[in-house]
Amino acid sequence: MGQNSKEVWTLAEFRGGMINPVSYELLAWGRTLADDLEAELASVILGDEITSVETLFHEGADIVYIVDHKGLANFLPDVHSNVLTSLAKEHKPEIILASATTYGRTVMPMLSTKLETGLTADCTKLEIDPESKLLLQTRPAVGGNVMATIKTQTKPQMATVRPRSKKPLKPDQTRSGRILYKEFSPQFFESKYTWIGFEKDESSDSPIQEADIVIAGGRGMKDENNFDLLYKIAKKLNGVVGASRTAVDMGWIPYSHQVGLSGKTVSPHLYMAFGISGAVQHIAGMSSSDIVVAVNTDPDAAIFDVADFGIVGDALEILPIFLKKLGEKDG
Ligand SMILES: Cc1cc2nc3c(=O)[nH]c(=O)nc-3n(C[C@H](O)[C@H](O)[C@H](O)COP(=O)(O)OP(=O)(O)OC[C@H]3O[C@@H](n4cnc5c(N)ncnc54)[C@H](O)[C@@H]3O)c2cc1C
Repeated sequence: MGQNSKEVWTLAEFRGGMINPVSYELLAWGRTLADDLEAELASVILGDEITSVETLFHEGADIVYIVDHKGLANFLPDVHSNVLTSLAKEHKPEIILASATTYGRTVMPMLSTKLETGLTADCTKLEIDPESKLLLQTRPAVGGNVMATIKTQTKPQMATVRPRSKKPLKPDQTRSGRILYKEFSPQFFESKYTWIGFEKDESSDSPIQEADIVIAGGRGMKDENNFDLLYKIAKKLNGVVGASRTAVDMGWIPYSHQVGLSGKTVSPHLYMAFGISGAVQHIAGMSSSDIVVAVNTDPDAAIFDVADFGIVGDALEILPIFLKKLGEKDG
C-alpha cells in the first residue's frame, strides 16, 4: 500500500530492553480493524536502544515507527505524549490503540487531550461498524451492569484495551514491513518530571493470568470445602483455580482468584467452569480462552453460550468422576 493509505496504530511498550507482550495482543486487535478498513497496521515504539522490532511484523504490523532516544529510556508521560502527538499530527492515523496498562492509561488521556479527540478506556471488544466504518468500542458501563458500545465521531478514534482480552496472532516469521525512524529536536525530550525509579506492583500480578489451564468454580459449588475438588483437578492438570465473584464474596476463595470484570482477565488454553451461571461480568474476564468447558445443572445457563463443550449436570457428582478419570482413586 502507498504512503497515503489509511493507518491503524497500536502503541508498543518497550521497557528493560524488551517489548512487553501486551503489544502483540494489541496488534491482534489492530490487524482485524486494519483489514476491515483496508488500512495499514502500524506499531509505534518509543524507547532507548530499541531492539527486536521484527517481532512486531511477525505479529501483524505492516509499519513500525521508531523513536529511539536516551530521553525515552524511562517513561516520562509528558515527553511520550508530546512525541506521540507530533507523530499523530503528521501521519493522521484513523485509530490509536494502547493497552490499558499503567503506560496506556497514563499516556492516552494526555494524547487525546492534545489531539482534541475522544478516548474510550478499558475496552473489552473492538469492531469496525460496517456502515459508518467507525470504531465500535465496547466497555463496561453503569458500574459494570451493562456493556456499552461507544463510537467516537472525531479522529483519531482512541481506545485503551484490557490486557488479555485477545490472544496475540500466531507469529509469522515470513512477514516483514517498513521501519520508519523518526527524529525529534532536543526540546521534545525535556520533561517537567524527574525520574526516580521503577517499582513493580507485585499485587497486580496473579498466577491465574499466566495459567494455561483454569479450573473455575461458582456458587453452584455450594461450599468452600467442595473447592478442594477443583484444587485437586487443577494440580493434576498443572492448572490453577479460578472463581466467580459470588464464590469470592461467599469467602470460599481469595479475591486473587476472581475472574471477570472486577477480577482478573484470563486467556488460558482451557477454561473449565463448574457451577458458574455465565453473567456478562464473568464472561468479560474469560471469553478469550481457547476452549471453554461448562458444567451446570441449568440447561439455559448463559455459560453454555460461550462453551465449546457443555455438560448439563451436577458439578458435585461430575467432579469426583473426573478426578477419578485423572487417576486419583480416593477422589
Ligand atoms: C460491577 C459488577 C462487577 C462484577 N464483576 C464480576 C466479576 O469480576 N466476576 C464475576 O464472576 N462476577 C462479577 N459480577 C457478578 C455477576 O453479575 C454474577 O453475579 C456472578 O458472576 C454470579 O456468580 P455465579 O455464576 O457463581 O453464581 P450464580 O449466578 O448464582 O450461578 C450459579 C450457577 O450454578 C448453577 N448450579 C447450581 N448448583 C449446581 C450444581 N450442583 N452443579 C452445577 N451447577 C450448579 C446454577 O444453575 C447457576 O447457573 C459483577 C457484578 C457487577 C454488578
